Amino acid sequence: METDLSHIRGHVVVVMAPMGSGKGTLINRALENHPDLYETVSCTTRDMRPGEKDGINYHFITKEEFEAKVDDGQFLEWAEFAGNKYGTLKGEIMPRIVDPRVVIVEIELQGVQQLLKILPREHMTITYIDAGGWEVLRARAEKRAPMSETEMNARHDRFLIEEASKPLADVIIDNSGNEEDAHAQFEAVMQAAYNKCK
Ligand code: 5GP
Repeated sequence: METDLSHIRGHVVVVMAPMGSGKGTLINRALENHPDLYETVSCTTRDMRPGEKDGINYHFITKEEFEAKVDDGQFLEWAEFAGNKYGTLKGEIMPRIVDPRVVIVEIELQGVQQLLKILPREHMTITYIDAGGWEVLRARAEKRAPMSETEMNARHDRFLIEEASKPLADVIIDNSGNEEDAHAQFEAVMQAAYNKCK
C-alpha cells in the first residue's frame, strides 16, 4: 500500500508507557468516550499472554510471517523489543487518517522515532504515561503476583529502556496519584487531537 501523506486530515496519538503504568485503563476509557476513536492492532512475534486474544490485543504471527510483511513493505514502522518483533501495519493507520479521525498507537521508542520521520509532526501527538518511577511500578507488580529476583531485574531493565522514551513526549500524563486526574489529562489530549483534525 502506498503511503500517501498529502491527504491526511486525522491525528495520531502515540502512547508510550512502561509496563504496569495503567495505559490500558486510560486508553479503554478514551475508547468508550469517543466511539470513532481507533486503537491500532499491532503484529507481534511474541507469545500470547493469558487473557490475550489474537486480532484484539495483537495479531500474533510467526517470525517468518513477520519477515514476509517487512519484505513486502507492509509496516509503517517496526522494531525489536525484548527479543520479539512488533510492527504497525500501514493499513492500520493510513486509511483511517485520510478522514478527520483520531488513531491511538501504543508503541515503543524505536517505533516512535520511525513515525517521526514519516508522519507530518502536526498530525501526531506523543504522550508518555508516568506512573511515578520504578519503586511505584515494582510495588504494584509485587502486589499483583509474586516474582523472582531474576524476573524483577528483567522488569527493571525493561523499565529503564521504556523510561528512556520520556523526553520524546509532547505530553506527560501523570498517573502516579489520582486516577481520575490521569483520565482527565488523557481526555485533554484527545480533545486537542480532535481539534487538530481537518
Ligand atoms: P508487550 O509485549 O508488553 O505487549 O509490548 C512491549 C512493548 O512493545 C511495549 O512498549 C509496546 O508499546 C511496544 N509495542 C507494541 N506494539 C508495537 C508496534 O507495533 N511497534 C512498536 N515499535 N512497538 C510496539
